[in-house]
Amino acid sequence: MNILVCGGAGYVGAHVARELHLRHHKVTVLDNLSTGHREAVRWGQLIQADILDTNALDSVFRENTFDAVIHLCARSIVSDSTTDPYGYYLNNVQGTLNVLRSMRANGVGKFVFSSSAAVYGQPISDVIHEDHPKNPLSPYGSSKWMVEQMLADAWSAYGLSSASLRYFNAAGAAHQDGIGESHDPETHLIPNVLRSLLAGTPLNVFGNGYPTPDGTCVRDYVHVEDLASAHVLALNYLDQNQGTHAFNLGSGTGFSVMDVIRTAERVTGRQARISPREPRAGDPARLVASNLLARTRLGWNPSQQDLDEIVLSAWRWHQDTAY
Ligand code: UDP
Repeated sequence: MNILVCGGAGYVGAHVARELHLRHHKVTVLDNLSTGHREAVRWGQLIQADILDTNALDSVFRENTFDAVIHLCARSIVSDSTTDPYGYYLNNVQGTLNVLRSMRANGVGKFVFSSSAAVYGQPISDVIHEDHPKNPLSPYGSSKWMVEQMLADAWSAYGLSSASLRYFNAAGAAHQDGIGESHDPETHLIPNVLRSLLAGTPLNVFGNGYPTPDGTCVRDYVHVEDLASAHVLALNYLDQNQGTHAFNLGSGTGFSVMDVIRTAERVTGRQARISPREPRAGDPARLVASNLLARTRLGWNPSQQDLDEIVLSAWRWHQDTAY
């Protein structure tokens, strides 16, 4: 298939482009490079354009014939979204609407959307299923949920088939192909641990009084290559199953912040310097996915579940090639 990957220069998007290429699909990346990296676009042509630029979008769709769009463009820093909600709704909701409208005008009827566990808000169960109530705690989470609702309406009105993939914590790297996680500022735990171990600087640990076994937050870390493979499975699924769908993408296993730090120490042979900090606003104590639906419907089989291996792949990338 000929696939447009919006946001394909970003961390997850670059891994999705790689996976599509490995599965013999043709890839075009559209990215404004605001947070993405030109170096990460290695499996297809890069069109540098902004999803808020409707003229640019229209010409991209007019000049190409895409079978589907995988959409990962988003501003994604939760704390940032609470101080700039308009900016987040503009980019994440209006921007997505622009992409959807261009798709419709040009007869493209399949859409895979990069959603988030942030749509759920404070979990009311230990393991989160897709039908868990949606009470996002931030404009970021709300923006993802708004798009999911828009997609349900687009199916009813226009017959757009879509799969919303609710990521838990993307981690690791396809370091062997020179891509990995790099944000500026970096807010995510694993890259921050590894950067602090490389530089010998202290690592902030946000909160140690949560109701978890060691008092730090528990998250579900899923290897970014497994995350990427789910996008291709979702495209195939939409071929056979029209409609609007949503799937959790997590490993189904929880690790605490301290588990991650100890793992990184083991993998790197270095010792972390921990700086305890106040909890971050809006951080739920525990976020762990049920991935049953993705396994049974998509045939997803996350194969890199070992946290040591996940952290090692990220470490190799940070040591060798970090851009
Ligand atoms: N965290 C931390 N120090 C950091 C970055 C993150 O203690 O430098 C904690 C954060 O408070 C949360 C967990 O690590 O409990 C995972 O955070 P991350 O930002 O990686 O992902 P999130 O679950 O917020 O999407």
